[in-house]
Amino acid sequence: MTFRQRYTGLIERYRDRLPVHDDTRLISLGEGNTPLIKLHNIPDSLGKNVDIYVKYEGLNPTGSFKDRGMTMAVTKAVEKGSKAIICASTGNTSASAAAYAARAGITAFVLIPDGKIAQGKLAQAMMEGAVVIQIKGNFDDGMRLVKEVADEAPVTIVNSINPYRLQGQKTAAYEIIEELGRAPDFHCLPVGNAGNITAHWIGYSEYAGKLSDYFYNDTLEEYDKSSVTEKVPTMLGYQASGSAPFLRGEMVDNPETIATAIRIGHPQSWDYAWKVHEESGGWFDECTDKEILATQKLLAEKEGVFCEPASATSLAGAMRDIQSGKIPENSCIVCTLTGHGLKDPDTAIKQSTAPVVKVEAELGQVKSAILENM
Ligand SMILES: *Cc1c(COP(=O)(O)O)cnc(C)c1O
Repeated sequence: MTFRQRYTGLIERYRDRLPVHDDTRLISLGEGNTPLIKLHNIPDSLGKNVDIYVKYEGLNPTGSFKDRGMTMAVTKAVEKGSKAIICASTGNTSASAAAYAARAGITAFVLIPDGKIAQGKLAQAMMEGAVVIQIKGNFDDGMRLVKEVADEAPVTIVNSINPYRLQGQKTAAYEIIEELGRAPDFHCLPVGNAGNITAHWIGYSEYAGKLSDYFYNDTLEEYDKSSVTEKVPTMLGYQASGSAPFLRGEMVDNPETIATAIRIGHPQSWDYAWKVHEESGGWFDECTDKEILATQKLLAEKEGVFCEPASATSLAGAMRDIQSGKIPENSCIVCTLTGHGLKDPDTAIKQSTAPVVKVEAELGQVKSAILENM
């Protein structure tokens, strides 16, 4: 019998395509290599012949795709001698930054918005020893402050404006191509700052040997550019209606949505995302909070996959576009599920309509509870 080599994270796996040196100390928690799950029951119920896969990024070490970018950003921060990192966050970036900083033995400062952060994410940042700074403002205010303070204090920004974040995140596209043996026809993502849709496009384009100059920067210089596939997917970005600057065509000052991870009105990767839209021939669309929650529940009930509300936006949008025919039959579609459902138990429990059945600890009562609910 042969043993498979131990998986030690995405930088090790894709070293040839990432900006690290042989002697770089890698700060990793084994991120990446997440399941690509083919949906069965939902496509059947749509009555359309399509293949839908979900990339379950909630199974990263801190429960979101942010870990893919954070392993790169913190590795590079440590390489250049930084002793502290900082980010603004709707929750998942802070959970991830805190974990990788703990691993590296440096300090994480995280700015979170007042009261609009899911419990699980806050618990993570606090347990992992980050300095949590709660501001009386929203994510966009936090982002502005982080940029300003980084000019005044010795801290490295690890939001997705840090170019190493996108480098780490592009590996999700590599994994999808390697697993499917091809790029999908459509790739659907929830869009907040639009870093992740940009990172996926960089990954797909690179693997097809088609990365345009627009996306080049000095992190991308010295490594393997051989192409692995011909095709690139059409990129579809879905936003929550109350936080949909890409649909309005301008920044939104008071974004609102139950999907707190994408409650962002001033996306940091605005120009990149429009370029992705243009180059891939894709589109943006919006989903209401009601649609987002219904899809989160549907995915859990029909497929056993529990993601957080923001993540369900990708599938909600895809289902609508499949139904209307905008996404044609016989397409291969991948939806990114950006974060784990356990991040936000409050929202989940509030929308669970099935009551908990309460009985005495007694055989007869348990038996009738079963028979009545078959
Ligand atoms: C960060 C995040 C997003 C948004 O990603 P962007 O790169 O900001 O567009 C979506 N869903 C979840 C769960 C997130 O944590």
